[in-house]
Amino acid sequence: MRVILFGPPGVGKGTQAKLLSATYGIPHISTGDMLREAVADESELGKKAQAVMDAGRLVSDDIMIGIIENVLKSERCRLGFILDGFPRTVPQADALTLLLRKLGLRLDVVVSMEASEQEVIGRLSKRLSCSQCGKIYNLNTDRLDTPSACPTCGGELIQREDDKPETVLRRLRVYARSTAPVKEYYEKAGLMKTINAVGSIDEVTASLRALLPHA
Ligand code: AMP
Repeated sequence: MRVILFGPPGVGKGTQAKLLSATYGIPHISTGDMLREAVADESELGKKAQAVMDAGRLVSDDIMIGIIENVLKSERCRLGFILDGFPRTVPQADALTLLLRKLGLRLDVVVSMEASEQEVIGRLSKRLSCSQCGKIYNLNTDRLDTPSACPTCGGELIQREDDKPETVLRRLRVYARSTAPVKEYYEKAGLMKTINAVGSIDEVTASLRALLPHA
């Protein structure tokens, strides 16, 4: 199963991708998580990416296409993948189409997860993630006994630098300008399906699974 989860920051792509990954046993490929790991490791890539990410801008297409090429060619993606956060520009979508063609693979579906701008701003301002296990929480909906500790692993819960209000607005502008056109790209390719991403996690999972192969 080869799936892209598409949509604005904060719409729940990461949360749903992790659940689907566990259900279907195929990897969740989040370019944002990969970049954050590179920043934490202080690798060359991390040093290049950090300021761009903290400012809510996009890392260059060349770098992102190189990263995704390595991952999709690897053994772990042999049975499929759930892409989250890539492609984020039309040139990235083009590069992915070429890469998949070269590898003899095809996408099953691209799912656009839809929510209003107001909804995603509200969610991002209340989003915390665990610095150890990566689990995502929302202060609106998750009851956390100790707001600084992850209920799953005890790790420290932190607000992402790019979830601060000024940066969120920049990310939404970047999304509207550079990423939203990717939707049209996949509509033209006949691969795009849409779901309402407002509702409980279980409701959104059910809408998603209804669109996936072998659901
Ligand atoms: P995310 O966790 O998907 O919200 O990504 C966090 C940040 O990583 C983004 O705001 C970008 O700065 C960077 N990033 C992640 N994926 C991409 C991509 N496909 N193209 C460019 N930048 C990306």
